Amino acid sequence: MPELPEVETVRRGLQKILEGEVIEGVEVRDTRLRYPVDEKKLGRGLPGRRIKELRRRAKYLLILLEADGAREEACLIIHLGMSGRVYFSKKAETAQPHTHVIFSLRGGRELHFRDPRRFGLVDLVPLASLEDDRRFSSLGVEPLSDECSAEYFFDRSRKLRQPVKNFLMDSRRVVGIGNIYASEALFLARVHPQRAAGRISLETWGRITAVVKEVLGEAIRQGGTTLNDFQGPDGTAGYFQVLLRVYGREGEDCSECGATVRKKVLAGRSTYYCPRCQH
Ligand SMILES: [Zn+2]
Repeated sequence: MPELPEVETVRRGLQKILEGEVIEGVEVRDTRLRYPVDEKKLGRGLPGRRIKELRRRAKYLLILLEADGAREEACLIIHLGMSGRVYFSKKAETAQPHTHVIFSLRGGRELHFRDPRRFGLVDLVPLASLEDDRRFSSLGVEPLSDECSAEYFFDRSRKLRQPVKNFLMDSRRVVGIGNIYASEALFLARVHPQRAAGRISLETWGRITAVVKEVLGEAIRQGGTTLNDFQGPDGTAGYFQVLLRVYGREGEDCSECGATVRKKVLAGRSTYYCPRCQH
């Protein structure tokens, strides 16, 4: 599943080509995604629109469109779901199987949205309604923003007995810390994944916050970790394995102390940790 670093990598790749481009047309080949694609809405709202900016919120790609005539500023929302991809193709090139939506661009290229498992999403909303949109209004802070701080986590965790790993993976508090990144960050911060969030000191939250940012930032620099056939939107292979220090290493020696790495299931997710380094 594409995680936040992959989506951010995609955003950066798309940004170079899409900003300033004009969408000429849209072809919906199959509306049957998790939420059906509203073909009429896209057909009315997209052709002729200039792309102003590419943003990301959690794992949503947000393509901001300039106002034009009677049409107000709008936002094309794309979510990659479990298996979604967006990539550029030349016009008249045959689309790959499972390509559900094709955006044609004035510059001669097409942007293809492909999603074999159909958990993705393509939608168009007025920019003004984005803040109140149910998909976004309950989301917590962005992990790489300044709002995501030791104080933020400390304040929100007081009295909670919830394990710190589950706390970090709750998108109502902070978005985009997936299972692999949570395990890796807690290993680097030397905090046991089952420790009660409410008993973690401000100082320790400082350590956790710093490594969360470091781990996600490193994954973005490397192009993401979780899809082993991950491709950047320009079609080049964008997959570089970020060094996973503890994730998937059950039974191996801890790289720091030599103790045996353990695996435990927390909230249904495989959790890896070193029983000696992490307290
Ligand atoms: Zn260790």
